[in-house]
Amino acid sequence: MKQAVAGSCHCRAVQFRCQVDLSAPTTRCNCSICTKGRYWFAAVLPADFELLAGGDALADYRFGSHGVAHRFCRTCGVKVFGEASHPALGGRFFAVSVVCLDLEPERLASLPVQYHDGRDGSRVAPQVTSYL
Ligand SMILES: [Zn+2]
Repeated sequence: MKQAVAGSCHCRAVQFRCQVDLSAPTTRCNCSICTKGRYWFAAVLPADFELLAGGDALADYRFGSHGVAHRFCRTCGVKVFGEASHPALGGRFFAVSVVCLDLEPERLASLPVQYHDGRDGSRVAPQVTSYL
């Protein structure tokens, strides 16, 4: 069931609120950028995402096909979310950083996680996930 959760970057210049189902699996991925940033995300529909502050503070990094906007805070450098489109997820969505959500450590530790192989694009769990 979706619940409203607030979140921010480290310096709080960027603040958002989203409706997210935290009983659904969150995702860790082994693609090049998720590996470098150890990115851990929850998929949120555009209608369930609201940027409350910091639109001007957000930088936009893109690479490869430029299909994914990796949005991070210009001041503290924390990646807050990505914006992408994927048919399996119903089109456009936000990949919100789970650790940017205002959740207690115990809650974070209890969240279900699925692993995607973003290197070969299969989206099945890679054999080794411990470094993600
Ligand atoms: Zn910041």
